[in-house]
Amino acid sequence: MTARTPPDCTVTGCHQPRDAQGYCRLHYQRWQITGDPNVTPGQAIEEAVVGRVVAGQPPGRRLTVAEREAAVSRLYWARATETEIAARVGLAGRSSVYAIKKRLGLTRPRGGPDQ
Ligand SMILES: [Zn+2]
Repeated sequence: MTARTPPDCTVTGCHQPRDAQGYCRLHYQRWQITGDPNVTPGQAIEEAVVGRVVAGQPPGRRLTVAEREAAVSRLYWARATETEIAARVGLAGRSSVYAIKKRLGLTRPRGGPDQ
């Protein structure tokens, strides 16, 4: 028996035709990038990748937006300087770090015995 219409994407509620791996083009792309067809690329966090960045190792691939924010946040709480954070997370400079910190509400002074 041969189906005449292409089967739907296997993601629940998606009725786009299948493209690859049982997914339509959109869900296949998400699955390729994030490993989960329901996760938008910018939101995915792979714990191991963030861990490598925080430890000062190469992440192995491009960070997602959420991974970058997670890494900045952890390095901030580990008392890394903005220059250190920029180098580890692969940001252009301190102003990029500051922009992320501001978005995350991490721009207030941490306090503590700095001097
Ligand atoms: Zn789909």
